[in-house]
Amino acid sequence: MQKIVTMERVHILFGSNMGDKEAIFAQACLLINNRCGRVVQVSGAYDSEPWGFVAEEWFLNRVIVVETDLAPEELLRRLLGIEKELGRIRHPENQGYASRTADLDILYFGSRVILSETLTVPHPRLHMRRFVLVPMCEVAPTMVHPVFEMTQEELLQHCPDDSVVKKLD
Ligand code: ATP
Ligand code: CA
Ligand code: CA
Repeated sequence: MQKIVTMERVHILFGSNMGDKEAIFAQACLLINNRCGRVVQVSGAYDSEPWGFVAEEWFLNRVIVVETDLAPEELLRRLLGIEKELGRIRHPENQGYASRTADLDILYFGSRVILSETLTVPHPRLHMRRFVLVPMCEVAPTMVHPVFEMTQEELLQHCPDDSVVKKLD
């Protein structure tokens, strides 16, 4: 019998505020393409004010669109491995946010809604963050959030966040 493979379109947010951020992004795309699925689109680069904590260095944010046949938990496992390889150090004693070389958050996994101990999809804070919604509006403005039933443009219009997100050339 033929095995049916379901490909899903996944939106991942890359964030970095440490080191050579663009070089780390390029490396992240290569590793994702090799290990997680085909990278079909990337957003432009955004310079974002740190959100939820104080840091001198601003973030490079970009959305990466991937087509994958991996299960969501397996994709998360591989992304966490890539973050580590790109030099992310986690200090378990630290509460809250800290500067990092690479953060890879799963924003959307097709239109699936996932609630497990290790994974929440859509990402539970994406609608509160301009640094997510601004690049999402560039790559998929009319894509609908499966829980809020609003497009990315509508989510951005309703977003109370006023932190600065600047498009880089
Ligand atoms: P935030 O999630 O608010 O952006 P963060 O990215 O700094 O914060 P991390 O320390 O990178 O948080 O992630 C902590 C854990 O969040 C991960 O180990 C993972 O198990 C869990 N997690 C839950 N949902 C997601 C998701 N959609 N994408 C990535 N990680 C997730
Ligand atoms: Ca994050
Ligand atoms: Ca993360």
